[in-house]
Amino acid sequence: MRGDNGGVHLINADLHSHSAVSDGALAPGALAARAAASGVELWALTDHDEVGGLAEARDAALDLGMDWLSGTEVSVTFAGETVHVLGLGFDPADEHLRSGLAATRSGRQERARRMGEDLARAGIHGAFEGAAALAGNPDLVSRTHFARHLVDKGVCASLHEVFRRYLKPGKPGYVPHRWAGLGDTVRWITRAGGMAVIAHPGRCAFTVNEEFALFSEFVAHGGRGVEVLTPAHTLADQTRFAGIALEFGLDASRGSDFHAPGESRVELGALPDLPGRLHPVWHRLQGRIHSRQRRREAQEWM
Ligand code: AMP
Ligand code: MN
Ligand code: MN
Ligand code: MN
Repeated sequence: MRGDNGGVHLINADLHSHSAVSDGALAPGALAARAAASGVELWALTDHDEVGGLAEARDAALDLGMDWLSGTEVSVTFAGETVHVLGLGFDPADEHLRSGLAATRSGRQERARRMGEDLARAGIHGAFEGAAALAGNPDLVSRTHFARHLVDKGVCASLHEVFRRYLKPGKPGYVPHRWAGLGDTVRWITRAGGMAVIAHPGRCAFTVNEEFALFSEFVAHGGRGVEVLTPAHTLADQTRFAGIALEFGLDASRGSDFHAPGESRVELGALPDLPGRLHPVWHRLQGRIHSRQRRREAQEWM
């Protein structure tokens, strides 16, 4: 247990991480072991547009003595930009959520092929095949797999350089894509009993007006949280989104967005505590947390 901060006792919660079921490098069980070894007390696996790793993640987490929440990170298109929305504490068996996520995943193969064609035109051949070979889930070939392949091939020195030179909007390997709608995504999550949380909002390239529209619409659709502590945020972002959490009445989340050893800058569970004046998302999610004591109940539930 960690100390207290401004009067609010906080546990080491890490509610944002990826396994090889999306664009992480470790299997869900191995990721759980790494989280536990790093001191995480409440953990969520949040694979992109997928819940396929959750059963393994939950079993491993409970065996390791961690508390666990279901999770996913949904790719959303809002005002022409990609926004990531975390779902936490939902029923992974919910049919509407599952079909919504399947529809969101369904465009990825075609997008990846087109990315491969674009990169070939830029003189880089075989990138689709290379990326697909690195993907643990054929439905989830992501830009991260392209980036890892181009680093393996020696085209760039780092993932960051691949994104900067090839995979961002306006670059030769970038293919615009329409992801899920904001309202649909929030409804899939909340109707499955979960909480919708805007992930790393500091990463979005919005104007002040677009950002206001995003948070207003998110709340109107039933969204309840915002990720304040994430490696994507500078200290200034943390302060700004703490203010937005208070302004919009949103609970605050904390997550490492861990993808791979040696690749992710921040280890699982290794972020500062949330500022004491914010309400942690896990307080509202108490009834959705699986703990070892509640394991029998959990197995019936999932
Ligand atoms: P996709 O969903 O296929 O568009 O891929 C998005 C993923 O790319 C994100 O979830 C990150 O894991 C990764 N990503 C985005 N920007 C960068 C970056 N600058 N450096 C490394 N990884 C990145
Ligand atoms: Mn990712
Ligand atoms: Mn993200
Ligand atoms: Mn993520």
